[in-house]
Amino acid sequence: MGSLLEVEAVTVSFGGHRALDQAGLSAEAGRVTGLIGPNGAGKSTLFDVICGLRRPVSGRVTMNGREVTRLGPARRARHGLARTFQRLELFGRLSVRDNLLVAAELGRRHGDAHAVVDDIIGRLGLDQVADTTADELPTGTGRLVEVGRAMATRPSVLLLDEPAAGLDPTETEKFAELVRTLAADGVAVLLVEHDMGLVMSVCDQLFVLDLGTIISSGPPEVVRRDEAVLAAYLGEG
Ligand code: ADP
Ligand code: MG
Repeated sequence: MGSLLEVEAVTVSFGGHRALDQAGLSAEAGRVTGLIGPNGAGKSTLFDVICGLRRPVSGRVTMNGREVTRLGPARRARHGLARTFQRLELFGRLSVRDNLLVAAELGRRHGDAHAVVDDIIGRLGLDQVADTTADELPTGTGRLVEVGRAMATRPSVLLLDEPAAGLDPTETEKFAELVRTLAADGVAVLLVEHDMGLVMSVCDQLFVLDLGTIISSGPPEVVRRDEAVLAAYLGEG
């Protein structure tokens, strides 16, 4: 099976600064693809391009064989794309359950939104906080709810931007398991994450971005030994 998501030669400029320079990657159904790189490398900008929040100067984004480069975020969402943001973007005054319900009702495959939400609450272990408003949640729990909200739209391509930031080790472990389950259900998961332990353990394939350019790609065990990757991370600790 071919790639569900294909990004080719994407260039983005902010003023004179090239945040992305001919960057490309692909993500396959049933697999977890990692996008890593130092701070400021362009990872979030690439997510913005993929989900239609930023128009590139040049390049192409294809989902399921269909070019979506000129489609807005809502149309892409209807084609099965969902993402989380690096900063939490929940409805603060809605309960966890209602945050999920809003997303489930927007989901392109209708069916019973309540059943979808109950399933997600169970899978994410959110039963205890289902009726808590999002504002009152600890950061780690808020992150899980955001992932749940993306799941509720039943995406075929799921972009996760630093989803484990603020999770404790137990939550991170549970989260890793969840990501694997989502991929096993056939979702193409694209993960931006700083926790290298998590990246190395859940990703099937990695792309490394540095200064707006993909400098390496391949299975984690190959990429982690790549000289160019080691050099890019020097000084990052
Ligand atoms: P990452 O997510 O890998 O840390 P970003 O995509 O956030 O990197 O940023 C890539 C580069 O683009 C950085 O140099 C950043 O300062 C710059 N940048 C990001 N967003 C904007 C913006 N809205 N305006 C100007 N520069 C930006
Ligand atoms: Mg970022």
